[in-house]
Amino acid sequence: MTRQAPLIAELVNLATTRWRGGASIQPLTDEELATAFAAQLGDRTSAALCAAPDAGRRLAELAGELRQALLAERPADQAAHINALIRRYGAQPYLVEDVGQPFHLHFHGSGGTQVDALGGEFATALALIVDGYGPDRFGTCEAHHCEAVYIDLTRNGSRRYCSAACTARAKTAAYRSRRQT
Ligand SMILES: [Zn+2]
Repeated sequence: MTRQAPLIAELVNLATTRWRGGASIQPLTDEELATAFAAQLGDRTSAALCAAPDAGRRLAELAGELRQALLAERPADQAAHINALIRRYGAQPYLVEDVGQPFHLHFHGSGGTQVDALGGEFATALALIVDGYGPDRFGTCEAHHCEAVYIDLTRNGSRRYCSAACTARAKTAAYRSRRQT
């Protein structure tokens, strides 16, 4: 399920982040959001997503719900948000055999559209991350002028930044402020 983590963060960041990597970002229209997020997916899923009715608006909705789950302060609120997403998107486990891959577990939501499918996958992924890593693995980037969310799957839970670029920016800023004092 950990392979979903970067996609979840990317969806939330595309749809809800106003500052990212040190720059302000113009909000995307629903259609732009669908196109930008589809570009992160494999060919088949991407085509299905773009063909889904109302994909952009529903993706924006899903992103908002995921953000609330990621940034809930108390573990009980976090769990309640994630459980609500699992119910809402009708997530259900089933084994799938893709071309060239052995049977593996999917958690597609059962609402029928590609957004429902993603909602089910993402909700379950968050639940499994909390179950496997604990409740403290979601955060927002600590670099200057960045509010992107991240999901921390490091062994010791040491992640503080959304990307390698923000890690480098923060290191440079810390070095400069040390030199000035
Ligand atoms: Zn960042």
